[in-house]
Amino acid sequence: MDLNKNYELGKINCDDFSLADFATYKGEDLFEVNDYFWDFYQDSITKKYMVYGNPISSAPTSVFTVYDRYLDKERDFLNFCSYNYLGYSRHPEVIKVIQETMEKYGTGAVSAPLLSGYYDLSKQLEDEIATFKNKESALIFPTGYGANLGVLSSLLKEGDIAVLDILSHASIYDGARLAGANIKVFMHNNPNHLDKVLKEIKNPRRVIVCVEGVYSMDGDIARLPEIVEVCKKYGAKILLDEAHATLIFGKNGRGVAEHFGLEDAIDITVGTFSKSFGSIGGFAVGDKKLITYLRMFARSYVFSCAMAPHTASGILKILELFKNDKSNLNKLWDNALYMQKELKNAGFDIGETKSQVIPVIVGSDQKLRKISKIIHSAGLYTGVVTYPAVSNKRTRLRLSISSEHTKEQMDSCVSIIKDAFNQVS
Ligand code: PMP
Repeated sequence: MDLNKNYELGKINCDDFSLADFATYKGEDLFEVNDYFWDFYQDSITKKYMVYGNPISSAPTSVFTVYDRYLDKERDFLNFCSYNYLGYSRHPEVIKVIQETMEKYGTGAVSAPLLSGYYDLSKQLEDEIATFKNKESALIFPTGYGANLGVLSSLLKEGDIAVLDILSHASIYDGARLAGANIKVFMHNNPNHLDKVLKEIKNPRRVIVCVEGVYSMDGDIARLPEIVEVCKKYGAKILLDEAHATLIFGKNGRGVAEHFGLEDAIDITVGTFSKSFGSIGGFAVGDKKLITYLRMFARSYVFSCAMAPHTASGILKILELFKNDKSNLNKLWDNALYMQKELKNAGFDIGETKSQVIPVIVGSDQKLRKISKIIHSAGLYTGVVTYPAVSNKRTRLRLSISSEHTKEQMDSCVSIIKDAFNQVS
């Protein structure tokens, strides 16, 4: 739709638009879209649809304090939105070790890793992550986004082909785009379609197939045994993003590849410390030659400040805690299965989730906005997910379950969502 022809500035009705309209609009002037988006944004606030970007003023525990712009005050919300799956973000032993490290090292790495940002703690974290993941070497990135960006943009060269599950995370798409690779997609979690796509490619040895252990918006898990088989048949490489699966799946928490006994079949694994580790940072693990190449050529590693030493020490402590005590993990699984069951029994479409990431499919953008307004005023925070994270027809509430949630909190969450759906449909 041509915003310029159809809408007068100051008179936009946000109900007529989705975010996709503004992402693709190309006005005569580079900044013209900002004027229209501003109007859309203001109308969304007037209608109390804008539930994004509210400042939080507490730890991301199962109840957290958030500024409510509509009441102009801070108040407590039930938190089903943070990725603090195992509750490590505020663990007293982790905080203690971080404080001690800060005393010694200061607040940040203050340099890129190849210059003077590579600390003994970064090296120790790399070694520990490689050992934990049963691979030769690891590289630590400032974020999980940066890990996918750096890995794909350095390995793929212009004209190479990245074959992505259509629901891959934005960082996977962006890494392939940055490399100038041709992107081909296969239907979500569909090995037969992957086979068809690979069959068409002349030189599959210069192809990387990218899949996620646990899909970030749907919570379903990769059909890795069949996907691996298809990739082997054509000699294509496999990148597995275990962002939401690390510390959650597999006997030792190494992820979905461990769950299926397929770790040796994966060429490169990527992950993040921002989810079950409750921290920040990303990693890539693989054989030592691959990691040595990435260390010199992954631009999001080379040209970005290194992880802060205290962040590395906190993650090391979390890894130690995790290895010694799986009670949080057991609690998380109890909670995730309970919520899957309760939501299904209540008649919601929760897709194919098999994990702690649970979508509650809404469908249209307009319906999602109304539902999000109701749950927000009822004091519930969930992911309110629309374009560009998912298609406009598959908008959803996305629940992130944590080991910290109590049964009462989970029951309240389901009851608020039920109430919101009843009011809207
Ligand atoms: N990969 C996947 C599958 C993700 O879901 C995310 C974050 N949502 C990332 C990568 C990026 O991780 P980070 O937030 O640590 O940058």
